[in-house]
Amino acid sequence: MCRHLGHVGPRPVTLASRVTEPPHSLLVQSYAPADMRGGGTVNADGFGVGWYGADANTAHSYRQPVPMWTDASFLDLATAVSSTAFVAAVRSATVGMPVSTGACAPFRDGTRVFSHNGVVRGWPGSLRDLAAELDPETLMTLEAPTDSAVLWALVRRRLHAGKDPADAVADVVTRALAAAPGSRLNLLLLTTGPAGEPVLVATAVDHALSWRSDADGVTVASEPLDAGDWTPVEDQRLLVVRDTATVEVSAL
Ligand code: GLN
Repeated sequence: MCRHLGHVGPRPVTLASRVTEPPHSLLVQSYAPADMRGGGTVNADGFGVGWYGADANTAHSYRQPVPMWTDASFLDLATAVSSTAFVAAVRSATVGMPVSTGACAPFRDGTRVFSHNGVVRGWPGSLRDLAAELDPETLMTLEAPTDSAVLWALVRRRLHAGKDPADAVADVVTRALAAAPGSRLNLLLLTTGPAGEPVLVATAVDHALSWRSDADGVTVASEPLDAGDWTPVEDQRLLVVRDTATVEVSAL
């Protein structure tokens, strides 16, 4: 299963400080993940990063359908780009799903940045009823024919309707789990709250997730990036980071 991380903080840090430099960075997790729980072996089917610009009203993204370690330009770029809020992911394509740029997380819509680590069991039939709430144009223009792209469309629809980001993610996870029991649904959403502040929402459903807080902010990651003071998130939990510092963990 893929690995992902999200970070929000009071001041910019380089993407490299979380994505490529730590001893167990996302880069290392792309070729030597430690806690895949039987879901694949390496995360070499692509990667991506979505990050906020200087004013947090803009976001950018970079994705490639290649192993992160093969993209020397990205490894360099990551040392030069600093941001207060970002999401990064490395992908292990679920069997039957394509390897393409559009299938790589994070998916992005303006400053809404989304990643899914896991699999929807019984795909695509199990999500049929849930996907029926999406209009045909949305379904015809999904970035990829994958479970993650549909989950993203469902979350995005709720955000466009004005739903609170945490409620939007929790609602999609709850419904998807009911429709497809046994699914692995670690979702990660970075978006902006009512005052334009970054909000990070993550779920742990049958997959690993930990978080750590320090003076540079809060980082949430599939696997701890180093030997620091990481807190594992229990299964079936929703984690929300507000104001770059407050971590709330609740039952889904
Ligand atoms: N099922 C998703 C995909 O194929 C996510 C994969 C994963 O977490 N390994 O893109």
